[in-house]
Amino acid sequence: MRTSRVSRETARLFDNASTSPSPRRSTRSLARFSYGAPSSPSVKNEPADIEDAVSLPRAKRIKREHADADATIKSETEDVKVEVKDEESPGTKAPRRQRKPVRTTTDRITGQVKVEPPSDWEAMYEAVRRMRAPGGAAYGAAVDTMGCERLADRSASPKDQRFQTLISLMLSSQTKDTTNAGAMARLRNELPPHKPGAAKGLNLDNILAVEPRLLNELIWAVGFHNNKTKYIKQAAEILRDKWNGDIPDTIEGLTSLPGVGPKMAYLCLSVAWNRTEGIGVDVHVHRITNMWGWQKTKNPEETRLSLQSWLPKDRWREINGLLVGLGQAVCLPVGSKCGDCELGLKGLCKAADRKKVAEGLKRLKLEDDENVKLENIKAEEAGIVKQDPQQNGLDDVKPSLENVKTESIENGEQAVTTSIKKEEKHETNGINGVSPVKKEEESVKRDVKVKIEED
Ligand code: SF4
Repeated sequence: MRTSRVSRETARLFDNASTSPSPRRSTRSLARFSYGAPSSPSVKNEPADIEDAVSLPRAKRIKREHADADATIKSETEDVKVEVKDEESPGTKAPRRQRKPVRTTTDRITGQVKVEPPSDWEAMYEAVRRMRAPGGAAYGAAVDTMGCERLADRSASPKDQRFQTLISLMLSSQTKDTTNAGAMARLRNELPPHKPGAAKGLNLDNILAVEPRLLNELIWAVGFHNNKTKYIKQAAEILRDKWNGDIPDTIEGLTSLPGVGPKMAYLCLSVAWNRTEGIGVDVHVHRITNMWGWQKTKNPEETRLSLQSWLPKDRWREINGLLVGLGQAVCLPVGSKCGDCELGLKGLCKAADRKKVAEGLKRLKLEDDENVKLENIKAEEAGIVKQDPQQNGLDDVKPSLENVKTESIENGEQAVTTSIKKEEKHETNGINGVSPVKKEEESVKRDVKVKIEED
């Protein structure tokens, strides 16, 4: 009995469940996801993902709704964007700057090879020149006062100056200009004389005579000083034996010296012999021109050849100093100051840090606004001074000037009036009180009368 009652109650519960589902079940029904569930229009409009069918907590639901809305907007925006780009780009958007590196083209007909310089190179070059000029962001770089070409003793003989230039260039590789200048100062002041009574300082004889250990001590601050000591001693012997104690005046001769590469040779030839036959490309010139996209080269020697293929020859000497200074003062290898750099601010440098440039532009705008305000204040002050002549003691002067002007005008008018009156009087009275005009008329009448009588 008991078993049958339980069975009956269980059966009743099942019946209830199948015939009258609870409202809660109906709202959260998963029946439509069951296999073979009939499809109805209402089901069709429901989202197909099971996660969408189960109601989410409020926060999640809101987030989801926003995400859906965003997705819709995004897709619409993307569609619109394409259309806007096509329609508006010619007038409203600045055309994308074409940046091309140096390239070689061959004329199909003549077969002539032509080298096209990089895009915008002249604008960039002039911007660097401005930055390197007094008042510019890269003015006063270390190279301007301590560059290799400035470290020779100008009071020494030309031959010694050339030798000193060569030594400063040999010391400069992998070394900061300031450090190099310090080492050169020690050599010039402390290098002992090669014989009693001779002058101390940096010259070929003293280098030949100095102990390598002492020379190494004097230049210990520069990079690779051990190797440089060795190269300097060897080069000094070559100069003595092969070059009559002077430095070579050719690139081949200079590069034949130990520790002297093309960069040093071209710079040395320019500075010591005042002959520019190539560009001195150091790490700054190599790094910066590649960064600008002027060429894509692997080492300074490739960069030199690339630059020489298109850069006008009158720039070959100065470009080294310009770019070295830029690299030292603004375009630093780490922490470049793009916000101070004209190239970045004018959109000429493809490697510019956009954030720094934006900050720089903002700062410039603030400075401009400040200047405008100051000018307005000055103009206002000037206006106040103008309206208040007492401040300048003009209260006495102005009336007196006006008096002079009035008197002058009055005198002029009086003089004119008197003159007119005199002329009128003269015309009216003429000779014997008869007007000259009237007298002439009478004369004409008399002549006509005589003519008629004769006829
Ligand atoms: S990277 Fe920056 S600092 Fe260097 S040239 Fe470009 S804009 Fe100037």
